[in-house]
Amino acid sequence: MESNKVIDLIMCEVKTAEEKHPGWPTDRIHAVSIIAEEVGEAMREAIDITYFPQNGSEERLIKELAQTGAMAIRALKSIEL
Ligand SMILES: [Mg+2]
Repeated sequence: MESNKVIDLIMCEVKTAEEKHPGWPTDRIHAVSIIAEEVGEAMREAIDITYFPQNGSEERLIKELAQTGAMAIRALKSIEL
């Protein structure tokens, strides 16, 4: 997948998430745990695709990876420098 497409997918997820959940935790552990949750969902899809292909979906894996990137961006945006 080309970089521009990747960035578009991630920024679309950022927009969706910010509209659905405008607040973002101020404590670092909670913020990073949200990213970890998305990593877990991406891992579940990767496992399904590999070992349970009848349940796996490349489309869902792409979505979860984009959500992981989106949550990392939200965490970075929340840091005041
Ligand atoms: Mg997800």
